[in-house]
Amino acid sequence: MADQTYDYDVLVIGAGPGGYVAAIRAAQLGLKTACVESRETLGGTCLNVGCIPSKALLHGSELFEEAHDGTLAKFGVKTGKVEIDVATLQGEKDSAVKELTGGIAFLFKKNKVDWLKGHATFKDAHTVEVDGKAHTAKDVVIATGSSVTPLPGVEVDNEKGVIVDSTGALALPAVPKNMVVIGGGVIGLELGSVWRRLGAKVTVVEFLDQLLPGMDGEVRKEAAKIFAKQGMELKLSTKVTGAAVRGKTATLTLEPAAGGKSETLKADCVLVAIGRRPNTEGLGLDKIGLELNKRGQIETDHSFRTKVQGVWAIGDVIPGPMLAHKAEDEGIAVAENIAGQHGIVNHAVIPSVVYTYPEIAGVGLTEEAAKEQGAIKVGKFPMMANSRAKTNREPDGFVKVIADAETDKVLGVWAIATVAGTMIAQAAQAMEFGALSEDIAYTCHAHPTHSEAIKEAAMAVRGKPIHM
Ligand code: FAD
Ligand code: NAD
Repeated sequence: MADQTYDYDVLVIGAGPGGYVAAIRAAQLGLKTACVESRETLGGTCLNVGCIPSKALLHGSELFEEAHDGTLAKFGVKTGKVEIDVATLQGEKDSAVKELTGGIAFLFKKNKVDWLKGHATFKDAHTVEVDGKAHTAKDVVIATGSSVTPLPGVEVDNEKGVIVDSTGALALPAVPKNMVVIGGGVIGLELGSVWRRLGAKVTVVEFLDQLLPGMDGEVRKEAAKIFAKQGMELKLSTKVTGAAVRGKTATLTLEPAAGGKSETLKADCVLVAIGRRPNTEGLGLDKIGLELNKRGQIETDHSFRTKVQGVWAIGDVIPGPMLAHKAEDEGIAVAENIAGQHGIVNHAVIPSVVYTYPEIAGVGLTEEAAKEQGAIKVGKFPMMANSRAKTNREPDGFVKVIADAETDKVLGVWAIATVAGTMIAQAAQAMEFGALSEDIAYTCHAHPTHSEAIKEAAMAVRGKPIHM
């Protein structure tokens, strides 16, 4: 039963992985719930123009590459002439997005969450206007997500398709000849991999001296070696200072990050992927007296309460990694807290995965960060020595387990392996349970699996792996 004073117990703004999950959990807990979404479909960035469409293209392009580069032939699978039909690949991607976003609409109906279509603006802390109509709620959750950070001087025009952001790069109708990716982060490497596999010559321009900021240093170096071996050209410590588009060609001006002689680079497609920023514009936060931090994010306490009574925030719009599973877990926790329960997210144990080939994954501290906290022991195991990876002819990568030198508690696990994204779940669970490296080393792992490399890396913490 809703509090008589308000239309709803809970009103969630934004139906991405944070917002839709919060709305469903709130409804499951018996709260009268509405969710406002300005897009035509539910699911936010992740389902519409993020995680899901990118994984469809990654999967399709991986199948093409396997057939095209002789990987299938090596195992005796004869394919004849291999061609890519981009329209069919894009169609398959669109179907996956349609099915999954439709699935959320079904879950809203099933759980009796009202979907209010339109753009939400605060009138006061308990009143939100959606396209001219006011709705009141006892508690309001801001889950408005994030959008692409623009790069001054390099204007994105997804319609034209020459300089695009991730949304444009997910919808290209044909394989570019030369693609320049600005930003060697997660999006740049995933989408750069897609178009490289399909035939584009891909150059990644990264401002820093390594790819993938935030990840373990050794992992970043190894990743760069692997991508270069696959044919991506990497221009590290380099910045783009401008772009000019003529017809279907862009000419970029590049400079060393530290300054110096400039050069130009031509491309028929430029992907700008230099990060994302929180969506707070037009929300009317001034009406409720809610200020942003220096990075434009909404600050909350550990329960996801903002400074304004009755207003909560989760997902990409608050500090922390911009990841769908982080947003989802915060969605569950915030709904439970609103319902008077004790919703908690352990932000120290949030896995991150880059879905390239091989995959790159990590959870917990990097070796650099762990060292700053005290003495550590590190165990490493190469995928080359893992029987399953060897049999599948997937030799690249390694697993690394970082443990406290004194207590043996696992502080971080990093992996580069074809299925690292799946492997990292056991590391996250072990860390959530406060595991020692010894606990992982003495857990029986099925043979032959890639996951045995985690066990062996844990054994290596004490210097005793078997297969090395
Ligand atoms: P969002 O998903 O951004 O959803 C917010 C929603 O709020 C949007 O639909 C928006 O339209 C709506 N909204 C905003 N303001 C208003 C308003 N005032 N009124 C009404 N509605 C509003 N993460 C992963 O974990 N794994 C991945 O593989 C992955 N791949 C990605 C690939 C790409 C190309 C991109 C761009 C992102 C990817 N991410 C991935 C990141 C992931 O998409 C985000 O972390 C996640 O979507 C954040 O969820 P959210 O609910 O906070 O916000
Ligand atoms: P990112 O922060 O991962 O990478 C951006 C990169 O651009 C950084 O390496 C940065 O140093 C570089 N950069 C910044 N300014 C630059 C400039 N002027 N010139 C050259 N390089 C520059 O951001 P992203 O790849 O845009 O992704 C955005 C967010 O989306 C990330 O936070 C990520 O968490 C999320 N995402 C996650 C996944 C996943 O989980 N698999 C996939 C895609 C996106």
